[in-house]
Amino acid sequence: MNKTENKIYIVGMGPGAEDMMTGQAIKALEVSDIIIGYTVYIQLLGEKFQNKELLSTPMRKEKERCKLCFEKAQAGKTVAMVCSGDAGIYGLASLMYEIGTDYPDVALEVIPGITAANSGAAVLGAPLNHDFCTISLSDLLTPWETIEKRLLAAAEGDFVIALYNPSSHKRKDYLARACEILLRVLEPERPCGYVENIGRDETKATVCRLDELKDAQVNMFTTVFIGDRGTEIIDGKLVTKRGYQIER
Ligand code: SAH
Repeated sequence: MNKTENKIYIVGMGPGAEDMMTGQAIKALEVSDIIIGYTVYIQLLGEKFQNKELLSTPMRKEKERCKLCFEKAQAGKTVAMVCSGDAGIYGLASLMYEIGTDYPDVALEVIPGITAANSGAAVLGAPLNHDFCTISLSDLLTPWETIEKRLLAAAEGDFVIALYNPSSHKRKDYLARACEILLRVLEPERPCGYVENIGRDETKATVCRLDELKDAQVNMFTTVFIGDRGTEIIDGKLVTKRGYQIER
């Protein structure tokens, strides 16, 4: 990876811990002059990159953050814009391409990261081992009717579902509402799980049934998994079978 002018790396940092970042992501941060991101992710970076110019903007200032990256890159700096998990999964990669049409002299490169569905699945066992989909319960950018439609379609299609943004201060009952919709199609015993604070201190995993998930209190740093027809709990782990026949 060479240092180039007018370049922005859009870097997925993974869930938090530095050893869950890819080697490519670390290299991109190393060759960058400036690292820009949401305050929490900049703080997560720790000691290693403290010699860089670190700029943070608060939540909800996404467009400003993207523009700041382009302005710095136009001034000749190599910029890394950091997002948690993967920048192309409920992250800012697409907004960067949209805004980038105003800055044709700036090159963009997306560096993939481990998304919460992957890192959370590893904590729980192997819940995504067949066809799965991700659905975000945040209705800030997507109307709730659309979210409902997707939940029902996923349940009817027998997908394993990874739910992102299952809760926030203003949306405490969204997970319960989502479970009620899924229970129209799925049985109450359906194996589920959720993981809080993946890759950070106090990672907590819980395995439960769909009707128990409905009453679970989760925070915004939680990823939720709903199994498909072939999902089982094996020795406390959430496991979605692919259909291999095991002869014993
Ligand atoms: N780009 C991120 C997702 C951002 S949306 C990614 O690829 O992972 C924010 C949601 O992601 C959170 O509400 C939560 O559902 C999930 N998430 C992100 N980091 C997490 C973590 N460390 N532990 C648990 N869930 C996390």
